[in-house]
Amino acid sequence: MLEKYNIYKDKSFNLSMAKEETKEKEKGKDVGKEAEAGLTDIPGIGPGIAAKLEAAGIYDLMGLAVLSPASLAEMAGLGEAAARKSIQAARGMMKLGFISGDEFAKKREDVSHITTGSTNLNNLLGGKGIETKAITEAYGAFGSGKTQLGLTLAVRVQLPKEQGGANGKAVFIDTEGTFRPERIRQISEGIGANPEKVLKNILVARAFNSDHQILLLDKISEMIKDGEPIKLVIIDSLTAHFRAEFAGRGQLADRQQKLNRYLHNLMRLAEQHNLAVYVTNQVMANPAMMFGDPTTAIGGNIVAHASTYRLYLRRGKQGSRVAKMIDSPNLPENECQFYVTVKGVVDEDTEE
Ligand code: ADP
Ligand code: MG
Repeated sequence: MLEKYNIYKDKSFNLSMAKEETKEKEKGKDVGKEAEAGLTDIPGIGPGIAAKLEAAGIYDLMGLAVLSPASLAEMAGLGEAAARKSIQAARGMMKLGFISGDEFAKKREDVSHITTGSTNLNNLLGGKGIETKAITEAYGAFGSGKTQLGLTLAVRVQLPKEQGGANGKAVFIDTEGTFRPERIRQISEGIGANPEKVLKNILVARAFNSDHQILLLDKISEMIKDGEPIKLVIIDSLTAHFRAEFAGRGQLADRQQKLNRYLHNLMRLAEQHNLAVYVTNQVMANPAMMFGDPTTAIGGNIVAHASTYRLYLRRGKQGSRVAKMIDSPNLPENECQFYVTVKGVVDEDTEE
């Protein structure tokens, strides 16, 4: 079991379910876009400084562009004036700022979707499931189906586009030890896919603490640069380690800052590589709330604002699940029903 928890590389990627040509087209598109400037393209930043920055978690121009001159100076051992120049150069190359609405629309043209396995849930999410270049968060009580939705998506992402997939691999960052290869097998068999092939296309890592969880994001960037066609990143759970490690009263601000940076990096990963991010989040009792469901998601506003789509999951009648769309930028606050079965997430429980 343990070796399953190490991210492994499978260079000989060849999805049996996926059509060759779509794959090539996709790859070409993404790779072309990713051939962008790196840290060492900035005047004043050579390989030595780049290595120092990478060690500090700054991997790309965006990371550099958002630094303050003082912190860059400290990280890289530069003078502050030189640091300021480098940051300005990075900002110039990033073209940070406004774009017109039509340019924005164009940037969204290559957004694709991954089916959840349930038409109801897909419709709640706007029609086709979870979206690339976006973070979809599911929060809810223990047993509400958050992990099961993640496992289902990890299988479905591998389907060709015509079947609601994104023709790619999934990364599963497991913070709670709940990833189950057996479940992946069952869900795969449920949709007529080869379970062993599907398992091969899910890159699993157990994150042992929040720092490790953060570090694994860089690992994902590296794998994508190495050519892994990753189209979905699952983080189950996003908040558990942060919550456990920053439990003290005085630590909330630190926790939120760290979480904020992490979510920011996640969103960047999603946008740069046109992939979908699915994160799960726990709830805590909210004693201040007198009516309705007295639970609130962990992570407060930071997570709420960073997530493009937020789903609140709960158990419904007769073994069903209910998903509610919470403050989406473009979708109404609706609810829908779905089921978790041996085949994963579905519209109806046909087992009985
Ligand atoms: P959480 O929200 O805590 O991540 P899960 O996604 O793990 O919750 O949901 C657990 C629930 O999923 C179980 O209580 C059960 O109802 C359902 N489930 C898990 N495995 C199966 C299975 N093989 N067949 C049917 N239902 C399952
Ligand atoms: Mg879970």
